[in-house]
Amino acid sequence: MSHEGIRLMSNEEQAREEAAHRPLPKIAVTPEKVRVLLTEGKGLEIDWADGHKSAWSFAWLRDACPCATCNEERNQQGRKPGQPRPRSGTLLPMYSPPPRPASAHPVGRYALQFNWQDGHSGGIYSWDYLRRSCQCAECAFAHAEAGGAPRPVAPHDRRS
Ligand SMILES: [Zn+2]
Ligand SMILES: [Zn+2]
Repeated sequence: MSHEGIRLMSNEEQAREEAAHRPLPKIAVTPEKVRVLLTEGKGLEIDWADGHKSAWSFAWLRDACPCATCNEERNQQGRKPGQPRPRSGTLLPMYSPPPRPASAHPVGRYALQFNWQDGHSGGIYSWDYLRRSCQCAECAFAHAEAGGAPRPVAPHDRRS
């Protein structure tokens, strides 16, 4: 009854996939200042060597955990990194405090690791991963320009 399960890749999607794997210039993935706003519970801020500034909330970072377990869970639920888990509609929502790390520490010279208060700590957030998921308006616009919103592609649109 539907074409679910058949994956057609539009040119835009293809361009986005390619852009996602293109290496970033070194100055774009070299942090000049890293601020983990633990006491404020705010999130992470990075000033990059190329002058760009990025900021992420802890909630976003927790839902974007790049570890294999979280990646798999997101894939199964069709969530993008940073997208919150769906809430169960049948149960009264339980109060859960916003995610916060108990501590954070650098991993080598390439990444940051959070020890979340819920006990999770498997995710290694590389500078590359963080820069690619910059939340600023400028980057959001650039992502949209490069990839475009996903739109359905009818089979007769595919000319070859
Ligand atoms: Zn994880
Ligand atoms: Zn940005």
